[in-house]
Order: sequence, then C-alpha cells, then structure tokens
Amino acid sequence: MYDVIIIGGGPAGLNAAMVLGRCRRRVLLFDTGKPRNRWSHSMNGFISRDGINPQEFLELGRAELQKYKVEVVCKLVKTATYSKGHFVVNDDEGTVYTSHKLLLATGLKDKLPNLPGLEELYGKSVHHCQYCDGWESRDKAIAVYGQGRRGVGQSLAMKTWSDSVTLYTDGTNKLTQSDWDKLKLNGIAVCTDKIARLEGEDGKLQRIVLQNGEVQEQQAMFFNTGTKQQCDLGTQLGCEFTSKGVIKTRRLQKSNIPGLFVAGDAARDVQMVIVAAAEGMKAGVAINMELEQLYLKREPQAGNKPVAV
Ligand SMILES: Cc1cc2nc3c(=O)[nH]c(=O)nc-3n(C[C@H](O)[C@H](O)[C@H](O)COP(=O)(O)OP(=O)(O)OC[C@H]3O[C@@H](n4cnc5c(N)ncnc54)[C@H](O)[C@@H]3O)c2cc1C
Repeated sequence: MYDVIIIGGGPAGLNAAMVLGRCRRRVLLFDTGKPRNRWSHSMNGFISRDGINPQEFLELGRAELQKYKVEVVCKLVKTATYSKGHFVVNDDEGTVYTSHKLLLATGLKDKLPNLPGLEELYGKSVHHCQYCDGWESRDKAIAVYGQGRRGVGQSLAMKTWSDSVTLYTDGTNKLTQSDWDKLKLNGIAVCTDKIARLEGEDGKLQRIVLQNGEVQEQQAMFFNTGTKQQCDLGTQLGCEFTSKGVIKTRRLQKSNIPGLFVAGDAARDVQMVIVAAAEGMKAGVAINMELEQLYLKREPQAGNKPVAV
C-alpha cells in the first residue's frame, strides 16, 4: 500500500509530491499530461519563473522529483473510492492501487466560447484571465466576450490595461440600464451583434467578423464563460462542491472525506500556478502530519492521546 496517491501532475500535484518525497513517504503520482494552461506559451506571474514556457516549468518540476524517488505513472485514473480507512484507485488499464491518503490535484478545464477561429488563437491572444495575460495585452484593442451580462465586470476590469475595450454580447441583449450606464461612463463600447468568426495570424487576433458582414479590428480577446472539473473523481468520492463547481476545502486543503485532500484549481481559491503549487505544499504538510499519527509508536497507556506534531 502506498502512503499517498496523488492524482494530477500539474503544479499542485508536483509540489505536494516534492514535500512528501522529502518526508520519505511512499508516493505514487498519476498524470495524463493535460494541464489547464497547455494552450499557452508563457506562464506569467510566478516570481522567478515569470514568462517561462508552461511545459518547461512542469519538466523542471518532474526532474526535481527524481531524487526523492516519487513514482510517476502517465496513466488516467478512472475510479477512486474510500473504504475502511484507505483509498482504492483504478487506472484505465484496470490496475488497482491502494493508499492511506489521497490527494486530488486534477485541475479544471475551461468552457470555451463557441466561436469559429478561437481555438487557433486561444492562449496566445485570446485569454480568460487578466492576471495571467493582461500585461501582455496592455494598450491593445481589447475585445471582451460575454453573453448575457457575464462580460460586464470583465470589461470594466480590462480598463486597467487598455483604454480601448469593447464588450461583445454575441447576439444577446440582456444588459440592464445600470450596466449600460457604467460601461458608457467608462468609455467601453458594446456590440450586441452575433459573431461569425475570429480571424488572425500566428496566434494573433486581428479582427472579429460579425454575422452582418461588418469587420471590427481587435488585437486581444478575454472571456469568462466558466469552468468544469477536469475529471469526476471528486464526485465519485463524495466531495462537497461550491456553487461554482470547485471542491470545498477546509484548513490545509482537507476535504469532507477523512484522508482526502484537494489542491490547485480543483479546490476553491485563486486559480493561478503559484497558488496551486502553494496548496500542494500545504496539503503535503498536512498529509505528512496525518501519516506521523499513523506510523509513530504510542505508549500503551497513552490511549488515544495524539502525538505532538
Ligand atoms: C490558457 C491559460 C493560460 C494560463 N496562464 C496562466 C499564467 O500565465 N499564470 C498563472 O499563474 N496561471 C495561468 N493559468 C492558470 C493555470 O493553468 C492553473 O492555475 C494551474 O494549471 C492549476 O494547476 P493544477 O495543478 O491545479 O492543475 P493543472 O495544471 O490543470 O494540472 C492537472 C493535471 O491533472 C491531470 N489529470 C486530471 N485528471 C486526471 C486523472 N483522472 N488521472 C490522471 N491525471 C489527471 C491533468 O492531465 C493535468 O496534467 C492559465 C490557464 C489557462 C487556461
């Protein structure tokens, strides 16, 4: 039986694996190699690693794990269950693994707007997060995509980086009078026409073509169309979720299931690489403390007195 199985080898899972490896725990890490930011060429906002290629960042992390003897398996975990104080995990080839503790670091995936031409530009000039890519889009002509009222807040936020911001509601017209007033006051144009496609070259957005044939020049687009869990293991295990679809965590990344921890984007909190890595660290420390309780010998008279950690 492993001490810990970690599912997900993004920044959260890798950092947890590092601390647990350093604690000399028997660690197995599963990863299918689909981190959320794999569309992007540059990972921003991580001090000392600002602008690094996201794939290179993960390769550096994996290489560092080698000296701690963490076992890494590039397989999909299909099922995970909790039974009688331990976890049972099945990979997609039917192999069964067991562990005392389990960490879900499986991340999220973004629901992309259904716009022809978007996929070629996603992660390069079409983004979802202003903290990740706002600086790179500074002073550009910025389009914000949001059907209904979803884009109002993001349009206002983008004024931090550019004077030229246009909200595209893509055929919907659900803005309230107060939305229109706020947008106008802040110099944000609004286009309610349906979008036909995005056009650009080498990953750079150049224009938005509307269904009425009109062409509008834009250089970057931001959207906020929501996310979902990258896999359903949290549901299988009986985790509690927030209304936004992320797993509820308590202090030190503990879930509502004993021995089950959740770190990174799959759990609630700011969704950025440095936060995911820090949550992996916190979960690793908490898991190690629980394992100390399991392994350290107690005096017979001590009963249930906990071991100081
Ligand atoms: C386009 C884009 C650009 C971004 N840019 C930035 C940026 O510049 N700076 C920044 O800080 N953040 C950025 N982010 C956010 C960042 O990607 C996330 O915050 C970060 O990846 C979260 O790390 P994580 O470890 O929780 O999950 P992830 O990095 O998503 O890793 C999860 C891993 O788990 C694996 N996995 C999932 N399910 C299973 C399973 N069942 N079995 C085995 N493996 C599984 C996946 O393959 C994946 O490798 C960006 C996001 C996007 C979409």
